[in-house]
Amino acid sequence: MSHPENATVFLKDKARAKWHDETLWIVREKRDATIHQIPEWEKLRELASQIKDHTLSKLDFYLEELERNATANGIKVHWAENAEEHNQIIGRILREKNCKTIVKSKSILTEECHLNPYLAERGVEVVDTDLGERIIQFLKQPPSHIVMPAIHLKKSDISDIFHEKLNTEKGNVDPVYLTHAARLHLREKFLQAKVAITGVNFAVAETGEFVVCTNEGNADMGVHLADTHIACMGIEKLIPRRKDLGVFLRLLARSATGQSITNYNSHFRSPSPGKELHLILVNNGRTKQLGREKFRNSLKCIRCGACMNTCPIYRRSGGFSYGSTVPGPIGSILSPGIDLKKYSTLPFASTLCGSCSDVCPVKINIHEQLYEWRQEITKANGSSLKGLSMKMANGIFKSPLAYRISGQLMRASLKNLPDSIIYNPLNAWGKGRNLPDLPEESFKAWYKKNRP
Ligand code: SF4
Repeated sequence: MSHPENATVFLKDKARAKWHDETLWIVREKRDATIHQIPEWEKLRELASQIKDHTLSKLDFYLEELERNATANGIKVHWAENAEEHNQIIGRILREKNCKTIVKSKSILTEECHLNPYLAERGVEVVDTDLGERIIQFLKQPPSHIVMPAIHLKKSDISDIFHEKLNTEKGNVDPVYLTHAARLHLREKFLQAKVAITGVNFAVAETGEFVVCTNEGNADMGVHLADTHIACMGIEKLIPRRKDLGVFLRLLARSATGQSITNYNSHFRSPSPGKELHLILVNNGRTKQLGREKFRNSLKCIRCGACMNTCPIYRRSGGFSYGSTVPGPIGSILSPGIDLKKYSTLPFASTLCGSCSDVCPVKINIHEQLYEWRQEITKANGSSLKGLSMKMANGIFKSPLAYRISGQLMRASLKNLPDSIIYNPLNAWGKGRNLPDLPEESFKAWYKKNRP
């Protein structure tokens, strides 16, 4: 289904859509409040943007440096060209360990690679340990937001899910009670798992270490209890030096949730004695995106989610309306690069207001790339209804006579035509919107009469 179709489904529940919009806006406001405490915020953004630009321009060099240093630290480094290879590497490690249950902290990359269904088909139970992810896992849903995966659910929904899955008291919506139940449930899973999977927020080429950021400490809990840690990272999650980390850690938490720092920023440099540490470097279309000059800098994204929280379309249409692993403005410029046809409606799910670019901590020109994708998609699609109407508008706007006549015709006819004709199924704009009252005369006619 296209974005407009999915959005229509979401908007059927008006009260929930309003609540979703307001909830995301609260997160945006929190972000604003925290960044205003830092006078050098804009300098940090600029610096982060430059570090990422530099890294992307020498990505091969830094990736090899990371591999060398990580290997010297005792980390087993693997390269995966695509999602399938990524899943196969994990499957192989689990087979060698005869492992049937794993714990996994939040990783958008494993969502992108569809790791959970891959492992489920092979008899491996994957337990997502981030609270939001565990909730949607109970529902067999994908995340609707990259930082707050269950943001589309209310406390009452979660209470119902926990009542069904964890046997909690019916109707108890107390967050402390519910999180306590989740903690007991997850602790059991942590104790059983021999392998823990995490994502990677930043990998440092200079030291061969990587950093995982969580607010719940679930990545640390899983990794410390398991014998084997597998970390999965997209090849763009790289920074050259350890001293660059401070720039990104300060930007990430503030942009994501309005916190001054994420609760746990855990550094992994080498395996603990007697344990194994694997790092999988995944391409899955990233080098292709790197080769697209206009869209290259979308790879600077640090997955903070700020562009989603501010986007008037995301807030009002919900994460599932995008139908892609990464929703919202950044998803709308990444996804067409993966499958132009499937995601062709996403770049149009934007007002092009530029708010996404304004909040982006690494200064990605998101709204400009959305506009660029629109042009690519229009070219690829050939003639369309919209293209035809634009051609007609072009003919009308370039001839003053045609413009005057069409204005007169529309003013006369729109007043008298029945709604069933004006708001016909071809009029996508008119779905959920009404035309304003029409003026009696054109501005030109009014000006002629009234000018001094
Ligand atoms: S594009 Fe920018 S604002 Fe959006 S998630 Fe990525 S880093 Fe955050």
